[in-house]
Amino acid sequence: MSSHHEIPSYLTPSEIGPWGVYLEQIDRVTPYLGSLARWVETLKRPKRILIVDVPIERDDGTIAHFEGYRVQHNTSRGPGKGGVRFHQDVTLSEVMALSAWMTVKNAAVNVPYGGAKGGIRVDPKTLSQGELQRMTRRYTSEINIIIGPNKDIPAPDVNTNEQIMAWMMDTYSMNQGSTASGVVTGKPISLGGSLGRHEATGRGVFVVGCEAAAKLGLAIVGARVAVQGFGNVGGVAARLFAEAGAKVVAVQDHAASIVCETGLDVPALQAHVKQHGSVAGFKGAEVIADGARFWEVECDILVPAALEQQITEANANKIRAKLILEGANGPTTPAADDILHDRGVLVVPDVIANAGGVTVSYFEWVQDFSSFFWTEEEINLRLTRIMREAFAAVWQLAQDKKVSLRTAAFIVACTRVLQAREMRGLYP
Ligand code: NAD
Repeated sequence: MSSHHEIPSYLTPSEIGPWGVYLEQIDRVTPYLGSLARWVETLKRPKRILIVDVPIERDDGTIAHFEGYRVQHNTSRGPGKGGVRFHQDVTLSEVMALSAWMTVKNAAVNVPYGGAKGGIRVDPKTLSQGELQRMTRRYTSEINIIIGPNKDIPAPDVNTNEQIMAWMMDTYSMNQGSTASGVVTGKPISLGGSLGRHEATGRGVFVVGCEAAAKLGLAIVGARVAVQGFGNVGGVAARLFAEAGAKVVAVQDHAASIVCETGLDVPALQAHVKQHGSVAGFKGAEVIADGARFWEVECDILVPAALEQQITEANANKIRAKLILEGANGPTTPAADDILHDRGVLVVPDVIANAGGVTVSYFEWVQDFSSFFWTEEEINLRLTRIMREAFAAVWQLAQDKKVSLRTAAFIVACTRVLQAREMRGLYP
């Protein structure tokens, strides 16, 4: 797929991974960039990559080392912005791709940020709370030299949450000598977090999903929804769809796949996951033993909300949904995109569908700077408006240019980024 791409010397061909997917997406948008295509190479190289060693003393007295990353892909339109992932499969290629998708996303919804992302290759389930805190604090200290409220603002991603953001904020603040709440978003409300942030990504998926369903003439009431990943994004999206009258018929997470023809009791499932760490063992559902068969479940709306490269050539032909809402970043490979397009399945790309999180992160950052906090109603209203407007603009462009929603979103976003690049000019 991406063998023709120039591979940076710091990635071997076998490591190209999600970064290769992103490069392919950039190739697909380049013909639509007009004279700005001259600058497109900017998008194919991260601005700055920091790889750090994160040593901690474990509870048993041994020393453990973890590999951490912070990648700033682009800062043409503002400071870097993007989450931090703790996962055993984190690689440089993955963090590079995630940082680039943040550049595109922030430009697609027009929040004044560049793109960045961070991660540590670790399975946090193997750490005690004390070890998790020490690792988070040491990682924050190591990337301290490139983050800051005006430089690069981390946020939660897979396996990171409000508590981890609180530790990051505290560590950065201790290093600075003053409390800097604007250095991370997704913080607890009591530390300058924003109302609505915890739910924002899932809510954005739902809002955009309703807009897209309306275009297809698909009613939400009674619609069959399948969700992969039942964490911050998938869990909230599932709950909002269920509250709106849809039936959540299947859920897959890292441990199990479950189905329920009549619709899962989503709040009960959320309570089960909170207690047991996964959907496995939930009483009100049947188990799908072969996880690959999750993709064949009869449904109208499919929400991948776990990891990258889940919808591939291997399963794209089997998917029964009419509408796919990318809650996750990069869940669909370019080859699968083509198959779905040919089959008439509408894909709302990650850079629009899951942009609700960074949109409310932007609100949080603005509130922190002004030390003036908004009501949840105001936040959700503004979020809904931004999401609807971004979707409408991308939908219209896709119609005009006869391209996929992904290519349309990339046209909007890459044009904004490269216009900024061109106007700023090259330094020196
Ligand atoms: P999370 O840690 O809260 O939840 C992740 C979920 O994915 C869990 O249910 C986990 O069991 C499941 N999962 C992990 N590995 C899996 C596998 N191999 N197969 C099936 N399920 C698996 O993370 P999150 O914040 O909900 O993030 C999910 C996705 O959404 C990621 O792609 C992330 O980059 C993206 N995203 C998150 C935000 C945010 O605000 N948190 C914003 C935009 C995009």
